[in-house]
Amino acid sequence: MRVGIGYDIHRTRSGGPLFLGGIEIGSEFGLVGHSDGDCLIHAIIDALLGAAAEGDIGQHFPPSDKSLKGVRSTVLLKKVMEIIKQKGLKIIYVDSVIVAEKPKMAPHILKMKKALAPLLEIPEDKIGIKAKTNERLGEIGRLKAIACWAVCLLEER
Ligand code: MG
Repeated sequence: MRVGIGYDIHRTRSGGPLFLGGIEIGSEFGLVGHSDGDCLIHAIIDALLGAAAEGDIGQHFPPSDKSLKGVRSTVLLKKVMEIIKQKGLKIIYVDSVIVAEKPKMAPHILKMKKALAPLLEIPEDKIGIKAKTNERLGEIGRLKAIACWAVCLLEER
């Protein structure tokens, strides 16, 4: 069994769309990023790479790589799944937390699970996505950023 942890934070910018958990959410702001800015997927990717002892997202997809500009993070996750499988690993469970003051995430969580399940090759009931605000504290509380945490459990195939 292998456990991985991942964290990511992205600055917000005015104007949507907001990409999070592999879906597009109607929002007054989006996330700044070299890719689509989906920091939930980025946190999950880092958890997976950590569990596989394969470095981190920046090593595999450096911001200097112009071919990745604006890439959907779902595409990056697919590439990471290839690494996981090549190492003879499979995912048992992924759990995560979104820390965002806005928008309300609850209406979107089921859709995120449905988007992530086929990518992670696990059923929706093996994916945890929780959302909370930062109690209006700090930069996240002032709507300047959204952060995500993820952990995963992998096993040898
Ligand atoms: Mg990121």
